[in-house]
Amino acid sequence: MTDRAAPVGDGDPYERRRRAMVQHHVAGRGITDRRVVAAMKRVRRDRFVAPAMAEFAYEDRPLPIDAEQTISQPYIVAVMAAAAEIEPKDRVLEIGTGSGYGAAVLGCLAEEVWTVERHHVLVVKARIRLAAEGFSNVHVVEGDGSLGWPDAAPFDAIVVTANAPSVPPALCDQLADGGRLVLPIGPQRASQELARIRRSGDRITTEDLGSVRFVPLVGEEGWPLDPLLIAESP
Ligand code: SAH
Repeated sequence: MTDRAAPVGDGDPYERRRRAMVQHHVAGRGITDRRVVAAMKRVRRDRFVAPAMAEFAYEDRPLPIDAEQTISQPYIVAVMAAAAEIEPKDRVLEIGTGSGYGAAVLGCLAEEVWTVERHHVLVVKARIRLAAEGFSNVHVVEGDGSLGWPDAAPFDAIVVTANAPSVPPALCDQLADGGRLVLPIGPQRASQELARIRRSGDRITTEDLGSVRFVPLVGEEGWPLDPLLIAESP
């Protein structure tokens, strides 16, 4: 992992704040997976937000990014990365690139990461940021991630960082044997549960990991784009 991410030099003005954030809000809130904690210490969240937002990057909260989306709260990024049980040789799919921050964390943990985003401006910016931070093993692709990314399937883990009304069947189909799918499910947008779905052979099991709140997964197997249709959904 250490050779994939950019080195954290003495000149990093945020290193101290990043370590404190991880200590209090990641390790301090029960994330025990050492590789996840190390990844959270390594990825410079301040580089994945607009310069005016950098000073808030080490607060444990979502922040606005382009296209009216958000960069996820660091604690939740760590929870999802740990729940995905990623091994160093794994191939991972992330749905919802946003800023690229979560993909960078996954990039520290996995051999290769594909991350899908529907907003072009976010795709372009995430590619630039991930390249600048040295994540050559993370591939940002543009499209509707509710359909997964069949070109690179199967995946050992799939992490969805936007809320789906129900489990998109394509994502289950693209899980490798033994694969884990971690996603926020909410039949109503206000009440969402983080679920972990595991495939072993033809068997699919689901675990509930607690309440969360994410922006909607908008797509063919997600929420419709039209806000009126969203309001009318059950
Ligand atoms: N992982 C991100 C969080 C992004 S928020 C980060 O670390 O910054 C969720 C993202 O999912 C948004 O950028 C949104 O545009 C994207 N999204 C929503 N529906 C999508 C879909 N069907 N396909 C791909 N991306 C989608």
